[in-house]
Amino acid sequence: MAVEIKEQGYVRLPAFLERGFSDLKREVIVKRKCSMCGTCAAFCDKITVDGGEPEFAEEYDTVCGLCYTFCPRTFMPLTAIEESIFGRASGDDEVLGIYKGCYEARAMSSEIKGQDGGVVTSVLAYALETQAIDCAVVTASNSDWRPEVRVVRDSEALKRSAGTKYTLYPSVVGVRDALNAGYSDIAFVGLPCQIQGLRKTELAAVKQPYEVGIERVKLLIGLFCTRNYTEGLLEFVAERVPLEQVRKFDIKGKELLVYGVDGVVSIPLSDLNSFVGEGCSVCRDFSAELADISVGAAGSADGWSTVIVRTERGEELFKGAHESGYIEVEDIKDTGLELVRKLAANKRAQASFRE
Ligand SMILES: Cc1cc2nc3c(=O)[nH]c(=O)nc-3n(C[C@H](O)[C@H](O)[C@H](O)COP(=O)(O)OP(=O)(O)OC[C@H]3O[C@@H](n4cnc5c(N)ncnc54)[C@H](O)[C@@H]3O)c2cc1C
Repeated sequence: MAVEIKEQGYVRLPAFLERGFSDLKREVIVKRKCSMCGTCAAFCDKITVDGGEPEFAEEYDTVCGLCYTFCPRTFMPLTAIEESIFGRASGDDEVLGIYKGCYEARAMSSEIKGQDGGVVTSVLAYALETQAIDCAVVTASNSDWRPEVRVVRDSEALKRSAGTKYTLYPSVVGVRDALNAGYSDIAFVGLPCQIQGLRKTELAAVKQPYEVGIERVKLLIGLFCTRNYTEGLLEFVAERVPLEQVRKFDIKGKELLVYGVDGVVSIPLSDLNSFVGEGCSVCRDFSAELADISVGAAGSADGWSTVIVRTERGEELFKGAHESGYIEVEDIKDTGLELVRKLAANKRAQASFRE
C-alpha cells in the first residue's frame, strides 16, 4: 500500500528509521530469526514474501526504515507498547502479560466446527453481525492444507476458515489486502509474533511521520503458540495420510494427531523437530500478550477454549458475544490457569537470545 508522509519535516526520525531492508536481512533473516509473520511485506510494496522469506523486489534499498521498525524480531519496545495498550508495563511475574479475565468458553452454534471451542470464529461472527468490525483477516487453507489468508465479511466464510494450520505463513499481509479494499474496522487473528508486529506498527504510527493505515485495525485476536512448523511438516504427513483426506490437525501433549477419513494417525512431536520454524526459538510469547483477546486450547477441557480477555475492546466484544448467545462462558479452573502459566513460563525460559 502507499505510505504517506503525515507530518513531513516536523517529527525528528529516530535512529532506527535510518535502517533499511538490508539491515533487516542482515540482522533478522540471515540470522534465521524471521517468524515469517508478514508484517514487513504488509506495509511495503517493495517487499514480497511469496517464497516464505521476505525479499526486496527492487535494486535500490530506500532505507525508509518501516520494515525494520515494524518487524517483531529487530527490537521489541515492550514497555512502551504495554503502556500504550494497558496504561502500564507488566511485572516479571505476569507471565501471561496483562489481562482483565481468564475464562473457558465454547461456541453455542453446532455449525461452528472450531479447532477447540470455536470461540475465535464465534466472537468474530458476533463482531461482524453487530457491525463492530467490517471485515476479519483470517487464515483459511486450501484442500492440501496450505494456509491462505482471506479477508472475510460473513459468518459462512468465517466458518470455513476455522481450525488450526500448523504452518508458518505471513498472514499479516491480509491486513494490506483489507486496507487496500478500503475497510475501516478490521479484525485480525494471528499468532503472538503477528500480533507483536501489528502492535509495533501501531506504536510506530504514533511516533513517526508515516501513515500506513494501522488505525483502521480495530481488533487483534491472538492464538496461544508454543511453536510453528515449515511446510516440510505437511510433506512429512502426506507420506502417511493424503492431505486432501485430513479433516483436522491437533497437537496434544507430545503428539501431532492427524484426523483423516480412516481414523487418527499419531506422530510423535520428536519426529517433527527438523520442521520447527527456526525463528520460533527466540520467541518468549506463548499467550499473545499484546492481543485484545487471546485464545488457546491449553487449560480447558476438550471442546472448550481458554480465553484471556485483555483490553476494554476485547472485553466488550467477548461479553457481547456471551450475552447475545454466541458463546457459553465459565470461569477458568485454577488447575487450567496454572497450566497456561506454566506453559508461558516454559516458553520464556526456553527462548534463546541469538545475537
Ligand atoms: C501454529 C499454531 C500453534 C498453536 N499452538 C498452541 C499451543 O501450543 N497451545 C495452545 O493451547 N494453543 C495453541 N494454538 C491455538 C489453538 O490451536 C487454537 O487456534 C485456539 O485454541 C483457538 O481455537 P478456536 O476453536 O477458538 O478457534 P477457531 O474458531 O477454530 O478459529 C481458529 C482461527 O485461527 C486462525 N488460524 C489458524 N491457523 C492459523 C495460522 N497458522 N496463523 C494465523 N491464524 C491462524 C484461523 O484464521 C481462525 O480464525 C496454536 C495455533 C496455531 C495456529
